[in-house]
Amino acid sequence: MSILKKVLVSILALFPAKLSALSILMYHSVSDSGAFFAVSPKKFEQQMKYTRDSGFNVIFASEIDERMRAGKLARTVCVTFDDGYEDVYLNAYPILKALGIKATVFLITNEIGGTYTNSEGKTFPLLKREQIAQMRASGFIEFMPHGHTHKKLHQLTESEQEKEIILSKGVIRELTGEEPRVFAYPRGRTTPAIAEMLKRFGFEIALGVVPGLVKSGSDTYNVPRNAVDNHVGFQEFKLKLSDRVEWYNAIARLFR
Ligand SMILES: [Zn+2]
Repeated sequence: MSILKKVLVSILALFPAKLSALSILMYHSVSDSGAFFAVSPKKFEQQMKYTRDSGFNVIFASEIDERMRAGKLARTVCVTFDDGYEDVYLNAYPILKALGIKATVFLITNEIGGTYTNSEGKTFPLLKREQIAQMRASGFIEFMPHGHTHKKLHQLTESEQEKEIILSKGVIRELTGEEPRVFAYPRGRTTPAIAEMLKRFGFEIALGVVPGLVKSGSDTYNVPRNAVDNHVGFQEFKLKLSDRVEWYNAIARLFR
């Protein structure tokens, strides 16, 4: 983290944290792998304890649409995991269950039980069917589609985009017995045409990777999320669960 960012986080952290909207946290791996997108189990536990002890309303991603319509977004947090790494089962799930925190996992549906190699060249095992079934049965974890093969949708033809959406939706329906209504864009990439397509296929909400808080007027087909990775310290994590995250993002953009 740059010095400037550190100073910024420290100054913003001086103010009392208030969260008057919904903050969706985006995680990937929970492991000691050292990958940029990984959070250590120890840090994850500290973050989740803070979330619980602060008394935030924690909701599934499938509850966002209803909350937005009802305008009930204050002091609300949604915990999401992209890709479906096996360490979510091994490391995150026991912590979530113990603390009573629910979460939504977005699966690369063609790779269940397979592996994923990230941009650093590190390979991670992905969740197996039995692990998914066990987590689902606990009532703490729900599963939604993240594309069938994790290809960036905006680079595909219209029929390829349709295939990615229909296949991933079908696998989730088969795994859960329910029609999925929430989608997370692979690598956050989307276009207005892709949003229209999701709408046509029955999706009510699609999550992106633009940072910020979710308010009643937010774009339901590119809902903002706040990334939590290896580089996010505890103060910065707390900022991501407060209205100050918008100042932080605005200032961080200026100095990028
Ligand atoms: Zn992903």
